[in-house]
Amino acid sequence: VSVTLPFKQLIVLGTGFGAYSLLRTAGRKYARIAEDIIVISPRNHFVFTPLLASTTVGSLEFRSVIESVRLRTPGRFLLAEATGIDWDRGAVLCRSALDGGTFELPFNRDSDALVVAVGAQTQTFGIPGVVEHALFLKQINDARRIRQRIFACLELASLPTLSDDERRRLLHFVVVGGGPTGVEFAAEMFDFAASDLKRAYPNLVQDVSITLVDAGKHLLSSYDATLSAYTEKHFARQSIQVLKETHVVRVEADRLHFKDGGELSFGCLVWATGNAPTPLVKSLPFAKDKTGRLLIDEYLKVDGAPHLYALGDCAVLNENPIPATAQAAEQQGTYLAKALTMRAAGREPVPFRYIHQGMLAYVGGHSGVADLGRFKGRGFAAFLFWRSVYLTKLVSLRNKVMVLFDWARTFIFGRDISRM
Ligand SMILES: Cc1cc2nc3c(=O)[nH]c(=O)nc-3n(C[C@H](O)[C@H](O)[C@H](O)COP(=O)(O)OP(=O)(O)OC[C@H]3O[C@@H](n4cnc5c(N)ncnc54)[C@H](O)[C@@H]3O)c2cc1C
Repeated sequence: VSVTLPFKQLIVLGTGFGAYSLLRTAGRKYARIAEDIIVISPRNHFVFTPLLASTTVGSLEFRSVIESVRLRTPGRFLLAEATGIDWDRGAVLCRSALDGGTFELPFNRDSDALVVAVGAQTQTFGIPGVVEHALFLKQINDARRIRQRIFACLELASLPTLSDDERRRLLHFVVVGGGPTGVEFAAEMFDFAASDLKRAYPNLVQDVSITLVDAGKHLLSSYDATLSAYTEKHFARQSIQVLKETHVVRVEADRLHFKDGGELSFGCLVWATGNAPTPLVKSLPFAKDKTGRLLIDEYLKVDGAPHLYALGDCAVLNENPIPATAQAAEQQGTYLAKALTMRAAGREPVPFRYIHQGMLAYVGGHSGVADLGRFKGRGFAAFLFWRSVYLTKLVSLRNKVMVLFDWARTFIFGRDISRM
């Protein structure tokens, strides 16, 4: 069915990179796309994930990397999780994020458009004990939990009743996953220990240790090999222990068990081993790839449903798959806002084209790595580049001012070490 007037409703699931850029691009001119926009998400803010690791140790404050969707995006917002889509009846099944109450949002398959931009959840590979004992790093609440756990470990380790072994265990911070998220958390933890803990917990700091465990041969394996090698050497200089080709098979409250029979005790475990589909995406009856992502065409359309679109980490292009990154989700969101405007006007949009802008990561001690096509940067210059790129990419002036202020505050006064 071709629609030659704006869609009646545009329903957007999610408030992450993909959805936020779609809504911001639609902006005040959204009436060209739809008479009404309804946004459904269990969080009423956008999170700038590239700087999330910095909030776990207080280099940045939580509020500095989030932005309200109510103030900055058009349409009506419902604080709820979509639990299913009944395509035949035309209804999005929802559960309130506050009281768990359920409700349905009806839609018309012919005159409404639906965008699934729900991202992904952390991959656990079904390893027993991960969900119960590990901490993830996807949302602000995850970062807050990590921060609380770090301080709980430090305060517990200060008690006079502990044995030396127990103290060392509590002060052992372990990260599983050698991609950018795991590497950046280890880097932030190193900075925190090397500067603030030295001053605030002088009796404990010599017992603090950081270990990064990865099943692969190299850290940052999606980056250029020279940058992976640089990161590993840099971590060795910082005394961050790296266990490569090490497979975790079980997690207990205080230790990891490896396939080769070894084990490693920890006080705080952060798990960052890539993406898995969310329960909503798992429940959808549309074609998916082998990792469970929705298959979409070059117009970001899901096959078999007239106006159903998907983008970002929950979807994968049928041909020429692109990385599951913020820049990809952002480009897709911007594209879809423009493509929907054209469709609503009865015109056929051009296919989506991804433009790779390179990859950056912070590796600690004021060093970074930058993989920008032919240019490979590392060290202090790459760190400055990393900071300036993310400062400009932050989505509002408010975020930029707050992040700049936090960086200055951390530089002058150190991180906040109060346990709240
Ligand atoms: C710590 C960390 C650091 C990262 N650093 C980088 C980086 O430096 N560069 C880079 O390019 N990428 C980075 N990424 C990856 C990047 O964040 C993701 O690729 C990007 O956020 C994907 O965008 P998205 O819109 O698909 O999903 P997300 O941004 O994850 O947003 C998903 C949204 O859907 C909502 N949602 C979830 N389930 C439901 C549901 N059932 N119903 C309704 N709404 C739902 C969520 O609340 C959220 O608002 C990082 C990721 C993490 C976790």
